[in-house]
Amino acid sequence: SGAKRVAVVTGANKGIGFAIVRGLCKQFDGDVILTARNEENGKQAIESLNKEGLKPIFHQMDLNDVTSIDRIKKYLQSNYGGLDVLVNNAGIAFKAAQTDPFSVQAEVTNATNFWGTLNVCKQLYPLLRIHARVVNVSSMGCQFAAKKCSKELQEQFLAPDLDMPKVEKLITDFVSSAKDGTFKSKGWPESAYGVSKIGVTLMTYVQQRELNKDSSRSDIVINACCPGYVDTDMTSHKGTKTIDEGADTPLYLAMLPANTTSPKGDFVRERQVASL
Ligand code: NDP
Repeated sequence: SGAKRVAVVTGANKGIGFAIVRGLCKQFDGDVILTARNEENGKQAIESLNKEGLKPIFHQMDLNDVTSIDRIKKYLQSNYGGLDVLVNNAGIAFKAAQTDPFSVQAEVTNATNFWGTLNVCKQLYPLLRIHARVVNVSSMGCQFAAKKCSKELQEQFLAPDLDMPKVEKLITDFVSSAKDGTFKSKGWPESAYGVSKIGVTLMTYVQQRELNKDSSRSDIVINACCPGYVDTDMTSHKGTKTIDEGADTPLYLAMLPANTTSPKGDFVRERQVASL
């Protein structure tokens, strides 16, 4: 079709998301939408990329505000009639020095990283065109956290019949057990961020399996990834990679060519498939 191609990146006013937009502006044949929850920060990011001669388009989106997700959905529908690349990059992490109780950290971190990301997927996946690429930015933290989970939980993560209701129930159970103090006896580690990223990786596995069942959508490729340890606000600038180095694997996954069979529905680090 003659429709203009379009890529959307969440949480792109700074950090790795900003570098993903920069890379897509250079590599992707179509419009690149830089989204941010804060309009002013997003527009500043656009200005700074304009100074590099790049022309991303701003659109506001807050993962925790379903009406904002609905607005961008309608914007994409009426201006592009579909979606070709979606990079779910936005995420949060409490700092080690923050003293909020674990129950609060578990709820707040999952509200954005898991439920927010899942809401974006649920709203925008119907727009994905036949060769669309989706990148869910997870973290190697999901691997560390999964290793600390009980055998029973690990088996559930890797079960071939895992579906979205089961993934949602795992995260719901983690948060409620963080609240009533039973999370350890239920096999969960004390890592709000790590479990939220287990959720992001598992949703990726399930989403790809769902799409594969529909032959008209079987060349839509969804992967989760870790960007590596990156110098951003999230890491208090302790990460060793630049934001552009951190954007390498997400960009590689966003640009996978037509009919890619691997990586597909995988968790990817340094452009290599890794296990949870
Ligand atoms: P930053 O903190 O620098 O950037 C995070 C981005 O997400 C910001 O633009 C932030 O917006 C946005 N964001 C947070 N919450 C929301 C929300 N509710 N709606 C929309 N946007 C939101 O972090 P990084 O660039 O380091 O992280 C990017 C991704 O990479 C995250 O998913 C992170 O978990 C992951 N990651 C990072 C690693 C690292 O070493 N840096 C390692 C492994 C994974 P605002 O500016 O308004 O806060």
